[in-house]
Amino acid sequence: MEMADCKTRRLVVDSGRPDASLIRAAGVALREGGLVAFPTETVYGLGANALDARAVAGIYRAKGRPADNPLIVHIDSPRVLNRYIDQIPPVVWRLAARFWPGPLTLVLRGGGVFPPEVTGGLDTVAVRVPAHPVALALIRAAGVPVAAPSANASGRPSPTTAAHVLDDLAGRIALVLDGGPSGLGVESTVLDLSGDGPVILRPGGAIRQDLEEVLGPVEVDPAVNGNAVAGSRPRSPGMKYTHYAPRAPLVLFEGHDPGRVAAGILADAGRLAADGRRVGIFAYSETAPLYDGKGYSVVVAGNRHEPDSVAALLYASLRRFDRLGVDVILAEGIAPDGLGMAVMNRLRRAAGGRVVTV
Ligand code: AMP
Ligand code: MG
Repeated sequence: MEMADCKTRRLVVDSGRPDASLIRAAGVALREGGLVAFPTETVYGLGANALDARAVAGIYRAKGRPADNPLIVHIDSPRVLNRYIDQIPPVVWRLAARFWPGPLTLVLRGGGVFPPEVTGGLDTVAVRVPAHPVALALIRAAGVPVAAPSANASGRPSPTTAAHVLDDLAGRIALVLDGGPSGLGVESTVLDLSGDGPVILRPGGAIRQDLEEVLGPVEVDPAVNGNAVAGSRPRSPGMKYTHYAPRAPLVLFEGHDPGRVAAGILADAGRLAADGRRVGIFAYSETAPLYDGKGYSVVVAGNRHEPDSVAALLYASLRRFDRLGVDVILAEGIAPDGLGMAVMNRLRRAAGGRVVTV
Protein backbone atom coordinates (compact mmCIF):
# COMPACT_ATOMS: atom_id res chain seq x y z
CA MET A 1 0.00 0.00 0.00
CA GLU A 2 1.63 3.24 -1.00
CA MET A 3 -1.09 5.36 -2.55
CA ALA A 4 -0.92 9.02 -1.61
CA ASP A 5 -4.07 8.93 0.53
CA CYS A 6 -3.52 5.83 2.68
CA LYS A 7 -3.48 6.19 6.42
CA THR A 8 -0.04 5.52 7.89
CA ARG A 9 -0.10 3.50 11.10
CA ARG A 10 2.56 4.17 13.73
CA LEU A 11 3.19 1.26 16.07
CA VAL A 12 5.43 1.63 19.09
CA VAL A 13 7.82 -1.30 19.55
CA ASP A 14 10.21 -2.04 22.39
CA SER A 15 13.57 -1.69 20.66
CA GLY A 16 15.23 -4.18 23.04
CA ARG A 17 12.59 -6.92 22.99
CA PRO A 18 10.19 -6.24 20.11
CA ASP A 19 6.70 -7.69 20.52
CA ALA A 20 6.59 -10.91 18.48
CA SER A 21 3.00 -10.70 17.22
CA LEU A 22 3.45 -7.10 16.10
CA ILE A 23 6.67 -7.94 14.25
CA ARG A 24 5.00 -10.97 12.66
CA ALA A 25 2.20 -8.78 11.28
CA ALA A 26 4.69 -6.21 9.94
CA GLY A 27 6.74 -9.03 8.38
CA VAL A 28 3.69 -10.39 6.56
CA ALA A 29 2.82 -6.89 5.31
CA LEU A 30 6.37 -6.56 3.94
CA ARG A 31 6.43 -9.98 2.29
CA GLU A 32 3.08 -9.29 0.65
CA GLY A 33 4.26 -6.10 -1.02
CA GLY A 34 3.64 -3.38 1.59
CA LEU A 35 6.02 -0.60 2.57
CA VAL A 36 7.13 -0.64 6.20
CA ALA A 37 9.41 1.96 7.79
CA PHE A 38 11.53 0.62 10.65
CA PRO A 39 14.34 1.68 12.96
CA THR A 40 17.91 0.61 12.31
CA GLU A 41 21.03 1.49 14.28
CA THR A 42 21.96 4.07 11.61
CA VAL A 43 18.73 5.88 10.54
CA TYR A 44 15.14 4.76 9.87
CA GLY A 45 14.74 2.65 6.72
CA LEU A 46 11.81 2.32 4.32
CA GLY A 47 11.56 -1.39 3.55
CA ALA A 48 10.05 -3.43 0.74
CA ASN A 49 10.40 -7.08 -0.31
CA ALA A 50 13.60 -6.94 -2.38
CA LEU A 51 12.44 -9.80 -4.63
CA ASP A 52 9.20 -8.02 -5.57
CA ALA A 53 9.74 -5.41 -8.31
CA ARG A 54 6.33 -3.81 -7.74
CA ALA A 55 6.88 -3.41 -4.02
CA VAL A 56 10.31 -1.87 -4.62
CA ALA A 57 8.88 0.51 -7.23
CA GLY A 58 6.62 1.73 -4.41
CA ILE A 59 9.70 2.91 -2.46
CA TYR A 60 10.73 5.18 -5.35
CA ARG A 61 7.18 6.57 -5.60
CA ALA A 62 6.82 7.18 -1.87
CA LYS A 63 10.20 8.94 -1.61
CA GLY A 64 10.24 10.67 -5.00
CA ARG A 65 13.63 8.98 -5.46
CA PRO A 66 15.48 9.11 -8.82
CA ALA A 67 15.04 5.72 -10.52
CA ASP A 68 18.76 5.13 -11.17
CA ASN A 69 19.74 5.35 -7.48
CA PRO A 70 19.95 1.74 -6.24
CA LEU A 71 18.91 0.46 -2.83
CA ILE A 72 20.66 -1.46 -0.07
CA VAL A 73 19.42 -5.01 0.50
CA HIS A 74 19.11 -5.85 4.20
CA ILE A 75 19.53 -9.47 5.31
CA ASP A 76 19.43 -10.97 8.80
CA SER A 77 22.63 -13.01 8.62
CA PRO A 78 25.77 -13.27 6.45
CA ARG A 79 24.88 -16.93 5.90
CA VAL A 80 22.04 -16.08 3.49
CA LEU A 81 24.43 -14.20 1.15
CA ASN A 82 25.09 -17.48 -0.69
CA ARG A 83 21.49 -17.53 -1.89
CA TYR A 84 21.81 -14.26 -3.77
CA ILE A 85 25.48 -13.92 -4.77
CA ASP A 86 27.32 -16.57 -6.80
CA GLN A 87 30.95 -15.78 -6.23
CA ILE A 88 31.62 -14.22 -2.86
CA PRO A 89 35.18 -12.91 -2.45
CA PRO A 90 36.77 -14.37 0.74
CA VAL A 91 37.34 -10.87 2.15
CA VAL A 92 33.57 -10.57 2.58
CA TRP A 93 33.64 -13.18 5.34
CA ARG A 94 36.42 -11.39 7.18
CA LEU A 95 34.53 -8.10 6.98
CA ALA A 96 31.29 -9.79 8.03
CA ALA A 97 32.96 -11.35 11.07
CA ARG A 98 34.17 -7.95 12.24
CA PHE A 99 31.40 -5.54 11.14
CA TRP A 100 28.10 -7.45 10.83
CA PRO A 101 25.60 -6.90 12.17
CA GLY A 102 26.53 -3.24 11.82
CA PRO A 103 26.79 -0.10 9.69
CA LEU A 104 28.80 -1.49 6.77
CA THR A 105 27.27 -2.00 3.31
CA LEU A 106 29.19 -4.08 0.77
CA VAL A 107 28.81 -3.57 -2.98
CA LEU A 108 29.34 -6.95 -4.63
CA ARG A 109 29.25 -8.29 -8.17
CA GLY A 110 26.17 -10.31 -9.00
CA GLY A 111 22.75 -10.07 -7.43
CA GLY A 112 21.00 -10.88 -10.71
CA VAL A 113 18.11 -12.40 -8.75
CA PHE A 114 17.09 -8.89 -7.68
CA PRO A 115 14.93 -6.75 -9.96
CA PRO A 116 16.61 -3.73 -11.60
CA GLU A 117 14.61 -1.49 -9.26
CA VAL A 118 16.92 -2.76 -6.49
CA THR A 119 20.26 -2.66 -8.32
CA GLY A 120 19.63 0.44 -10.42
CA GLY A 121 20.26 -1.83 -13.41
CA LEU A 122 23.94 -2.24 -12.39
CA ASP A 123 25.73 -5.61 -12.33
CA THR A 124 26.37 -5.14 -8.62
CA VAL A 125 24.24 -5.22 -5.50
CA ALA A 126 24.67 -3.51 -2.13
CA VAL A 127 24.00 -5.60 1.02
CA ARG A 128 24.24 -5.29 4.78
CA VAL A 129 23.13 -6.89 8.05
CA PRO A 130 21.71 -4.15 10.32
CA ALA A 131 22.45 -4.22 14.07
CA HIS A 132 19.03 -3.15 15.40
CA PRO A 133 16.89 -5.82 17.12
CA VAL A 134 13.70 -4.50 15.46
CA ALA A 135 15.26 -4.50 11.98
CA LEU A 136 16.63 -8.03 12.42
CA ALA A 137 13.35 -9.39 13.81
CA LEU A 138 11.42 -7.75 10.97
CA ILE A 139 13.63 -9.19 8.22
CA ARG A 140 13.39 -12.61 9.86
CA ALA A 141 9.60 -12.35 10.09
CA ALA A 142 9.33 -11.22 6.47
CA GLY A 143 11.36 -14.25 5.36
CA VAL A 144 12.68 -12.28 2.38
CA PRO A 145 15.59 -9.87 1.85
CA VAL A 146 14.44 -6.28 2.48
CA ALA A 147 15.42 -3.41 0.17
CA ALA A 148 15.55 -0.26 2.24
CA PRO A 149 16.80 3.27 1.64
CA SER A 150 16.48 5.88 4.36
CA ALA A 151 12.80 6.63 5.09
CA ASN A 152 12.87 10.32 4.09
CA ALA A 153 11.50 12.15 1.07
CA SER A 154 14.29 12.18 -1.52
CA GLY A 155 16.82 14.96 -0.92
CA ARG A 156 15.73 15.64 2.70
CA PRO A 157 17.72 14.92 5.86
CA SER A 158 17.50 11.25 6.82
CA PRO A 159 15.05 10.35 9.61
CA THR A 160 16.36 9.35 13.02
CA THR A 161 12.92 9.14 14.67
CA ALA A 162 9.49 7.85 13.64
CA ALA A 163 8.23 11.45 13.81
CA HIS A 164 10.73 12.42 11.08
CA VAL A 165 9.44 9.55 8.93
CA LEU A 166 5.86 10.75 9.37
CA ASP A 167 6.85 14.37 8.57
CA ASP A 168 7.98 13.21 5.13
CA LEU A 169 5.94 10.09 4.33
CA ALA A 170 2.62 10.17 6.25
CA GLY A 171 -0.13 9.07 3.87
CA ARG A 172 2.38 7.43 1.53
CA ILE A 173 3.30 4.26 3.42
CA ALA A 174 1.32 1.61 5.31
CA LEU A 175 3.24 1.46 8.55
CA VAL A 176 6.09 2.86 10.63
CA LEU A 177 7.50 0.87 13.54
CA ASP A 178 8.51 3.36 16.23
CA GLY A 179 11.49 2.02 18.17
CA GLY A 180 12.72 5.39 19.46
CA PRO A 181 15.69 7.36 18.11
CA SER A 182 18.31 5.60 15.95
CA GLY A 183 21.54 5.43 17.93
CA LEU A 184 24.29 6.23 15.45
CA GLY A 185 22.51 8.92 13.46
CA VAL A 186 24.33 8.60 10.11
CA GLU A 187 23.97 5.93 7.45
CA SER A 188 26.16 2.90 6.83
CA THR A 189 29.53 3.10 5.12
CA VAL A 190 29.17 1.92 1.49
CA LEU A 191 32.28 -0.07 0.53
CA ASP A 192 32.72 -1.13 -3.09
CA LEU A 193 34.31 -4.58 -3.40
CA SER A 194 33.39 -5.05 -7.06
CA GLY A 195 36.59 -3.55 -8.50
CA ASP A 196 40.34 -4.06 -8.08
CA GLY A 197 40.64 -2.74 -4.54
CA PRO A 198 38.19 -1.69 -1.81
CA VAL A 199 36.79 1.83 -2.23
CA ILE A 200 34.59 3.82 0.16
CA LEU A 201 31.72 5.24 -1.89
CA ARG A 202 29.97 6.76 1.10
CA PRO A 203 31.57 7.27 4.51
CA GLY A 204 29.34 6.17 7.38
CA GLY A 205 29.17 4.33 10.65
CA ALA A 206 32.07 1.94 9.93
CA ILE A 207 35.14 4.18 9.93
CA ARG A 208 38.03 3.97 7.52
CA GLN A 209 40.70 3.17 10.15
CA ASP A 210 38.71 0.15 11.34
CA LEU A 211 38.18 -1.09 7.78
CA GLU A 212 41.91 -0.73 7.12
CA GLU A 213 42.69 -3.02 10.07
CA VAL A 214 40.99 -5.78 8.10
CA LEU A 215 41.74 -4.74 4.52
CA GLY A 216 44.96 -2.75 4.48
CA PRO A 217 44.76 0.57 2.60
CA VAL A 218 41.24 1.60 1.58
CA GLU A 219 40.69 4.25 -1.07
CA VAL A 220 38.01 6.92 -0.69
CA ASP A 221 36.20 7.82 -3.89
CA PRO A 222 37.15 11.41 -4.86
CA ALA A 223 33.47 12.33 -5.12
CA VAL A 224 33.06 11.78 -1.36
CA ASN A 225 34.95 14.80 -0.07
CA GLY A 226 34.30 17.33 -2.73
CA ASN A 227 31.74 17.58 -5.41
CA ALA A 228 31.95 14.96 -8.13
CA VAL A 229 35.16 15.36 -10.14
CA ALA A 230 34.32 17.02 -13.46
CA GLY A 231 34.01 14.49 -16.26
CA SER A 232 34.26 11.44 -13.99
CA ARG A 233 31.34 9.07 -13.56
CA PRO A 234 30.20 8.61 -9.99
CA ARG A 235 30.63 4.98 -8.91
CA SER A 236 27.64 5.18 -6.66
CA PRO A 237 24.61 6.77 -8.25
CA GLY A 238 23.63 8.43 -4.97
CA MET A 239 26.67 10.69 -5.30
CA LYS A 240 24.99 12.62 -8.12
CA TYR A 241 22.22 14.14 -6.07
CA THR A 242 21.99 16.98 -3.55
CA HIS A 243 20.97 15.29 -0.36
CA TYR A 244 20.27 15.60 3.34
CA ALA A 245 19.17 19.20 2.82
CA PRO A 246 16.94 21.26 5.12
CA ARG A 247 14.46 23.68 3.48
CA ALA A 248 16.60 26.81 3.85
CA PRO A 249 19.91 27.02 1.95
CA LEU A 250 22.87 25.96 4.09
CA VAL A 251 26.35 27.51 3.90
CA LEU A 252 29.13 25.39 5.40
CA PHE A 253 32.12 27.08 7.06
CA GLU A 254 35.23 24.89 7.26
CA GLY A 255 38.55 25.57 8.96
CA HIS A 256 40.96 24.25 11.60
CA ASP A 257 40.46 27.14 14.02
CA PRO A 258 36.98 27.14 15.63
CA GLY A 259 37.41 30.81 16.66
CA ARG A 260 37.99 31.90 13.07
CA VAL A 261 35.10 29.77 11.84
CA ALA A 262 32.80 31.44 14.37
CA ALA A 263 34.11 34.89 13.42
CA GLY A 264 33.39 34.17 9.74
CA ILE A 265 29.88 33.03 10.58
CA LEU A 266 29.23 36.09 12.79
CA ALA A 267 30.35 38.45 10.02
CA ASP A 268 28.03 36.84 7.46
CA ALA A 269 25.19 36.51 9.95
CA GLY A 270 25.42 40.24 10.71
CA ARG A 271 25.22 41.13 7.02
CA LEU A 272 22.30 38.79 6.39
CA ALA A 273 20.37 39.98 9.45
CA ALA A 274 20.88 43.60 8.38
CA ASP A 275 19.21 42.59 5.10
CA GLY A 276 16.21 41.36 7.11
CA ARG A 277 16.96 37.64 6.73
CA ARG A 278 16.23 35.22 9.56
CA VAL A 279 19.55 33.50 10.27
CA GLY A 280 19.97 29.96 11.63
CA ILE A 281 23.32 28.82 13.00
CA PHE A 282 24.38 25.16 13.25
CA ALA A 283 26.98 25.12 16.03
CA TYR A 284 28.53 22.94 18.73
CA SER A 285 28.58 23.27 22.51
CA GLU A 286 32.07 24.83 22.50
CA THR A 287 31.17 27.72 20.21
CA ALA A 288 27.41 28.16 20.70
CA PRO A 289 27.79 30.85 23.43
CA LEU A 290 29.56 33.10 20.89
CA TYR A 291 26.26 33.52 19.00
CA ASP A 292 24.11 34.32 22.06
CA GLY A 293 21.92 37.39 22.38
CA LYS A 294 21.95 38.45 18.71
CA GLY A 295 18.57 37.10 17.68
CA TYR A 296 19.90 34.19 15.63
CA SER A 297 18.30 30.72 15.82
CA VAL A 298 21.16 28.62 17.15
CA VAL A 299 20.96 24.81 17.11
CA VAL A 300 23.63 22.97 19.11
CA ALA A 301 24.58 19.68 17.44
CA GLY A 302 26.81 18.01 20.04
CA ASN A 303 30.50 18.68 20.78
CA ARG A 304 32.90 19.37 17.94
CA HIS A 305 35.57 17.07 19.41
CA GLU A 306 33.18 14.13 19.78
CA PRO A 307 32.01 13.27 16.26
CA ASP A 308 29.67 10.56 17.63
CA SER A 309 27.72 13.25 19.46
CA VAL A 310 27.46 15.32 16.26
CA ALA A 311 26.40 12.29 14.17
CA ALA A 312 23.65 11.43 16.66
CA LEU A 313 22.17 14.96 16.48
CA LEU A 314 22.99 15.85 12.86
CA TYR A 315 19.73 15.13 11.03
CA ALA A 316 17.40 16.15 13.87
CA SER A 317 19.32 19.45 14.04
CA LEU A 318 18.99 20.07 10.30
CA ARG A 319 15.25 19.31 10.48
CA ARG A 320 14.90 21.68 13.43
CA PHE A 321 15.71 24.64 11.19
CA ASP A 322 12.59 23.81 9.14
CA ARG A 323 10.48 24.31 12.28
CA LEU A 324 12.33 27.50 13.23
CA GLY A 325 11.51 28.93 9.80
CA VAL A 326 14.91 30.48 9.04
CA ASP A 327 15.84 31.90 5.61
CA VAL A 328 19.46 30.75 5.64
CA ILE A 329 21.61 28.39 7.75
CA LEU A 330 25.28 29.04 8.52
CA ALA A 331 26.93 25.81 9.68
CA GLU A 332 30.22 25.05 11.39
CA GLY A 333 32.18 22.05 10.11
CA ILE A 334 34.18 19.57 12.21
CA ALA A 335 37.43 17.69 11.54
CA PRO A 336 36.76 14.97 8.95
CA ASP A 337 38.39 12.21 11.02
CA GLY A 338 36.77 9.00 12.23
CA LEU A 339 33.00 9.44 12.21
CA GLY A 340 33.70 13.10 11.34
CA MET A 341 34.26 11.99 7.72
CA ALA A 342 30.62 10.86 7.49
CA VAL A 343 29.37 14.02 9.22
CA MET A 344 31.33 16.31 6.89
CA ASN A 345 30.23 14.36 3.81
CA ARG A 346 26.58 14.94 4.81
CA LEU A 347 27.12 18.63 5.61
CA ARG A 348 28.90 19.21 2.30
CA ARG A 349 26.10 17.50 0.41
CA ALA A 350 23.51 19.49 2.36
CA ALA A 351 25.42 22.65 1.41
CA GLY A 352 25.32 21.66 -2.27
CA GLY A 353 28.61 23.46 -3.00
CA ARG A 354 28.08 26.51 -0.74
CA VAL A 355 31.30 25.93 1.23
CA VAL A 356 33.42 28.75 2.72
CA THR A 357 36.97 27.90 3.84
CA VAL A 358 38.23 30.19 6.60
P1 AMP B 1 20.19 5.35 0.77
O1 AMP B 1 19.63 6.31 -0.20
O2 AMP B 1 20.30 5.98 2.14
O3 AMP B 1 19.53 4.05 0.77
O4 AMP B 1 21.68 5.06 0.32
C1 AMP B 1 22.04 3.97 -0.47
C2 AMP B 1 23.40 4.26 -1.03
O5 AMP B 1 24.00 3.06 -1.51
C3 AMP B 1 23.32 5.23 -2.18
O6 AMP B 1 24.37 6.16 -2.09
C4 AMP B 1 23.47 4.33 -3.39
O7 AMP B 1 23.94 5.01 -4.51
C5 AMP B 1 24.45 3.27 -2.86
N1 AMP B 1 24.37 2.00 -3.59
C6 AMP B 1 23.41 1.08 -3.51
N2 AMP B 1 23.63 0.07 -4.37
C7 AMP B 1 24.79 0.36 -5.01
C8 AMP B 1 25.56 -0.30 -6.02
N3 AMP B 1 25.18 -1.46 -6.55
N4 AMP B 1 26.69 0.30 -6.45
C9 AMP B 1 27.07 1.46 -5.91
N5 AMP B 1 26.40 2.14 -4.95
C10 AMP B 1 25.26 1.58 -4.51
MG1 MG C 1 19.16 8.12 1.92
